[in-house]
Amino acid sequence: MRVDVGYATRLYRRAPGDPLGTSWTLVTPEAPRETRFGGLFPIEGDRWIVSVGGWQGDHAPTDEKAFSEYVRQLASPDIHRIVTQAEPISEIMPFKYPSSLRRHYERLRRFPLGLLVLGDAICSFNPTYGQGMTSAAKQAAALDATLAEGVAGPRLAQSFFKRAASIVDIPWQLAVGEDFRYPTTSGPKPAGIDLLNRYVAAVHRATLIDPEVCRAFLKVMNLIEPPASLMAPRIVLRVVKANRRLREQKARSLEPVLTRP
Ligand SMILES: Cc1cc2nc3c(=O)[nH]c(=O)nc-3n(C[C@H](O)[C@H](O)[C@H](O)COP(=O)(O)OP(=O)(O)OC[C@H]3O[C@@H](n4cnc5c(N)ncnc54)[C@H](O)[C@@H]3O)c2cc1C
Repeated sequence: MRVDVGYATRLYRRAPGDPLGTSWTLVTPEAPRETRFGGLFPIEGDRWIVSVGGWQGDHAPTDEKAFSEYVRQLASPDIHRIVTQAEPISEIMPFKYPSSLRRHYERLRRFPLGLLVLGDAICSFNPTYGQGMTSAAKQAAALDATLAEGVAGPRLAQSFFKRAASIVDIPWQLAVGEDFRYPTTSGPKPAGIDLLNRYVAAVHRATLIDPEVCRAFLKVMNLIEPPASLMAPRIVLRVVKANRRLREQKARSLEPVLTRP
């Protein structure tokens, strides 16, 4: 699936008086209107790591001035404050990710004995969703369980790839769903994804003002709960109510009161 994501990352010295202290900030785009994201995280050695980038060719530049301007245009000013006030201690490092790629080893009838495939080699996700390590770790646990059951020989590959595929299904579905919110995304498009995305967009909006919806959403994105948990009547009701409140606030031209989970 072609997503054409490009980011740039830079390290900065973190000083005790920095405006954000040790909080982190993540700015995500409202697709398809926006294409840029940015992340600012405190890391070891009194440093900040700043990553900014965009989908569908809206790549972050590595030229000093253009990088700062790109960061300035993000929806929140926090990252720009650090970029303009803190001391840079690295180059601006680019990273390009053209396509997410899933290989269906589980569909093979035969596989070379003594070899297995795992992690990114089975499925490489758009890294902006942060699912690759969790998926690889879950696959490693599945391999451990398969071996512990005494499965061996030619049956091992078949049995493991089946389990790995069911692990990959959910993050793939989440990543593909998100990426298809951009009409320029190309690749095999699952049926019904546009309808589902309209609900997911409503969930995103609800996360701004409803901590319970926000928690439920983060659990799904972090692969703790299945996506179907967002369809639980309790959550659907909260999503509908939150969206109604947001519409009313907008009609009264009030800024939504943001909450954290
Ligand atoms: C920029 C970026 C940001 C990411 N952010 C996140 C995130 O926030 N959260 C998250 O969960 N995931 C993230 N990911 C994805 C995550 O890094 C991968 O999904 C995960 O590392 C996959 O693990 P792996 O073991 O399959 O592959 P890798 O970690 O790529 O390991 C493969 C290893 O094999 C080695 N190798 C390759 N060829 C050979 C060879 N011929 N001989 C010997 N060794 C070889 C490589 O050097 C490498 O060490 C990100 C990825 C990128 C690129």
